[in-house]
Amino acid sequence: MGTQWTDPFNTPERRALRELTRDFVTREVLPDLDEWERVGQLPLSLHERAAAAGLLGIGFPEEVGGSGGDLIDGLVMTEELIQTGASGGLVSGLFTHGIALPHMVVAGDPGQMERFVRPVLEGRAIASLAITEPDGGSDVAALRTRAERDGDEFVVNGSKIYITSGVRADWVVVGVRTGGPGFGGISLIVVPSDTPGFTVVRRLEKIGWHCSDTAELAFTDCRVPAANLVGPLNSGFIQIAMQFVVERLSIAVQAYATAQRCLDLALEWARMRHTFGKPLVAHQVVRHQLVEMDRLTDVARTYTRQIALRHVAGQEVIAEAALAKNTAVAAAEAVTYQAIQIFGGQGCMSDSEVERHYRDVRILSIGGGATEVMTELAARRLGL
Ligand SMILES: Cc1cc2nc3c(=O)[nH]c(=O)nc-3n(C[C@H](O)[C@H](O)[C@H](O)COP(=O)(O)OP(=O)(O)OC[C@H]3O[C@@H](n4cnc5c(N)ncnc54)[C@H](O)[C@@H]3O)c2cc1C
Repeated sequence: MGTQWTDPFNTPERRALRELTRDFVTREVLPDLDEWERVGQLPLSLHERAAAAGLLGIGFPEEVGGSGGDLIDGLVMTEELIQTGASGGLVSGLFTHGIALPHMVVAGDPGQMERFVRPVLEGRAIASLAITEPDGGSDVAALRTRAERDGDEFVVNGSKIYITSGVRADWVVVGVRTGGPGFGGISLIVVPSDTPGFTVVRRLEKIGWHCSDTAELAFTDCRVPAANLVGPLNSGFIQIAMQFVVERLSIAVQAYATAQRCLDLALEWARMRHTFGKPLVAHQVVRHQLVEMDRLTDVARTYTRQIALRHVAGQEVIAEAALAKNTAVAAAEAVTYQAIQIFGGQGCMSDSEVERHYRDVRILSIGGGATEVMTELAARRLGL
């Protein structure tokens, strides 16, 4: 008799979460997604509806207004969002708080939970995380935006770029220099967007993620209460680094889920489309292409899920999470490319879903840490 195996990604509770997510995407997202992709942002009302459905707060504790659950629940939801036809931009724009809130949930005080965290998880406000600067993003320890203490306030000066949801944000967690050079002089501070001196310099147009707004932000003598500091002074780099594992695993999930969606779409097309008197899928070359797409997707999914389970179990997986991101992104790039090939001319048209996934996936090898930087991080963790 074989050993009983319970798939943690397919428990009754997580099957119910998949069902809930599919229902939400079908009812609340698919009817309007093309329009949001065209106008370049999501409506706040979608955040309210996602909160009401219990999806916005997945992975956040109920004490701060979340729906509970852990990273695995978040991954299950992301898989299902994309595999039901939502876009990478939808995931990044609707769940930007997934990168903006965790530092505060871990290190913030009760006042911050009430003023900042709860309204976002209730879908009434939008939060962003601003680390990257026009001079560079890979080298986080070199960031230059400054925050000087002045009585009960900090005065923030500098600029940030490529900030997801930055056009719509009600408040932004900003990486600032409060001490000397290097990683030990960085703090995180919340700057509300109605602070005098806070400017959305431009809305940035980009290759993919069209329904997720992206901003360049400027801070000119922005005065914010010292109570907006997240965690201890000069602990910002550690806080950022601690959340990178989850951010990278989330991007890996987005990547392999997009690959799975493109594989499903390509297979459906290959069964329906005929050339030379038979369906595409009856041509051995196409069949083998589909098998390779399936292999790449499954390897990425299996590896990423395994690393996520180890992270939830408390193991240190800094290098593995970086490599899971690289593995899944490379799979998604290959699979989305091949999906367009199987669709032929139709795959190149902007009204075809695979075309959108192909563009969306291009961002993933840069956002959340470039592939080369991930590999270098793994090299250092391996003692090379
Ligand atoms: C759509 C989108 C959304 C984003 N959202 C956010 C956000 O919400 N908040 C935020 O703070 N940032 C955000 N970013 C920024 C993102 O994190 C940075 O783009 C990324 O960290 C790379 O920084 P950079 O663009 O400044 O590239 P650079 O640091 O200038 O690097 C450029 C390229 O050089 C190579 N490279 C860099 N360093 C090395 C090295 N050590 N070894 C080998 N090669 C190297 C890599 O190929 C890299 O892509 C977003 C980016 C995009 C595209």
